[in-house]
Amino acid sequence: MIPYLDLKAQYDSIREELNAAAVRVLASTHYVLGEEVVAFEKEFATYTQTAHAVGLNSGTSALHLALLALGVKPGDEVITVPFTFIATASAIVYAQATPVFVDVTPDTLTMDPAALERAITPRTKAIIPVHIHGQMADMDPILAIARRHGIPVVEDAAQAHGATYRGRAAGSMGAIGCFSFYPGKNLGACGEGGALVTNDPALAATVRCLRDWGQTQRYHHDLLGFNYRMDGLQGAFLRVKLRKLEEWTEGRRTAAARYDQLLAGLPLGRPVQAAERRHVYHVYAIRTLRRAEVQARLNQAQIGNGIHYPIPVHLQKCLVHLGYRQGDFPVTEAASNEVLSLPIYPELPPDSQAAVRDTLAAVLG
Ligand SMILES: *Cc1c(COP(=O)(O)O)cnc(C)c1O
Repeated sequence: MIPYLDLKAQYDSIREELNAAAVRVLASTHYVLGEEVVAFEKEFATYTQTAHAVGLNSGTSALHLALLALGVKPGDEVITVPFTFIATASAIVYAQATPVFVDVTPDTLTMDPAALERAITPRTKAIIPVHIHGQMADMDPILAIARRHGIPVVEDAAQAHGATYRGRAAGSMGAIGCFSFYPGKNLGACGEGGALVTNDPALAATVRCLRDWGQTQRYHHDLLGFNYRMDGLQGAFLRVKLRKLEEWTEGRRTAAARYDQLLAGLPLGRPVQAAERRHVYHVYAIRTLRRAEVQARLNQAQIGNGIHYPIPVHLQKCLVHLGYRQGDFPVTEAASNEVLSLPIYPELPPDSQAAVRDTLAAVLG
């Protein structure tokens, strides 16, 4: 059996530090926010090359508060891509704005800047490129278009901790960067977690207020806020794991490079790493038109796998009211039909990767 990801191997490698962190927080009784969260925020801001990080209870909360802090109002439009996890679009709907989708490019499967340009209207109030599978979107042209129209960019970096674009960290290039620490993400809590990063002190202050019931002082609720605070335990766990993140990312990149070599002769598509981008391989997705067959064979061989994602967001039932149809975004729709994610995690043994290759070759070779 080869698992899709192995959180037990990760726990085993840092067991003592995590256990000590848990005991520390339990004894402190600072279960919500507290000094561990404050320390994590400082360390994560440094890691993401930003001035401020705000610890939250999920990546979705980060996206939601990013839009509210930027002043997105009911009826506004927010442009994003349909090749993403549902949360990107859900956050737009939570802010009572309208998601406007634009297609991705066929190589990196990230926002197509030309399509973005065409979708901008006077009602566009934010743009959310998604750094899908661990690779940043083509930020320079996206930021140039956004700047020309005076529209802020929110990076959905939930899959891209540690990714870079021309040396600049994921989350640091737009007005706001949003991260998830769901356990399976490249930096994962031991439960739910998220963070928002920014260089703008006013935005950071607004988000700190909104995450804690909109309070300016205790029981003075100037804004209609939320209970979106990070747990003390998660802050402490994330500090331990952040210290390992670069090593883990190199492990993922090594595993991805090994897959690239092993799979080179097979009739399938491999992930494209664009020039001047550091891909952190949250997902290693191959592409094949024979996906059902290939997936059945992997399942039979007890090789973990996944599809990220099988139904593009514009075709999800919960968003039918937006009026999108099959055929609207051909690049996204083709990718949704063809992508298949192989096991990837820092501790993935090379012989497991060879076994994955052999199974793929038995179907496709
Ligand atoms: C995981 C994820 C989110 C949501 O993060 P949660 O912490 O699960 O709320 C948002 N966008 C993308 C692209 C994600 O992968």
